[in-house]
Amino acid sequence: MTTPYRRKRYWNEPRMGWYERAYIFEVLRGLMITGRVFLKNLGTFMLGRRGALTTYYPEEQRPDYARHNRGRHVLVQRADGKPQCVACNLCATVCPAKVIEIESACDLSDAAHPKYPARFAIDYSRCIFCGLCVEACPEDAIRMQPETPHFPGPDRTTMWSHREDLLSWQPARDAAKPYPPAGEEEAR
Ligand code: SF4
Ligand code: SF4
Repeated sequence: MTTPYRRKRYWNEPRMGWYERAYIFEVLRGLMITGRVFLKNLGTFMLGRRGALTTYYPEEQRPDYARHNRGRHVLVQRADGKPQCVACNLCATVCPAKVIEIESACDLSDAAHPKYPARFAIDYSRCIFCGLCVEACPEDAIRMQPETPHFPGPDRTTMWSHREDLLSWQPARDAAKPYPPAGEEEAR
């Protein structure tokens, strides 16, 4: 005998009174908030844009991204300058937007890392900056920096970032996450 399915009740299930269930009051409240922000921004813009929330991209670029903002991707470089990536394709597989393309190649003279990405490209016109590729990578070979990639333009086919652009991470500049980790270089 099968157990009938019971929908799970969540601990934070909202309890709505007649005021919320009428919806119209909440819709009006939302419109009031949107209108207030719009008029405030319009006013600050007309008074020299002091305090306006919007940024005129790409002419203006925000310098105050949060430290953990998921912006542009970088491919980690090994000490010899080659990519840490082993072209396992996990990031491309997990990517929900299917924007990573990898072509693997083999270099048997490099016994520690024989498989490497001959081509590694990300299409920023479709990337949703979810960070799943970073989470999935077993080699810590791909990371995301706070700054956003700058690909403004009318043609979405030009928004690809290729291996040479991505492989620009300079280990010495990232004191918080040095690569290779301290002490590991000597152990090799
Ligand atoms: S951030 Fe998300 S959408 Fe963008 S490449 Fe990584 S997995 Fe794909
Ligand atoms: S970046 Fe990481 S997950 Fe993606 S192919 Fe390279 S090693 Fe695999």
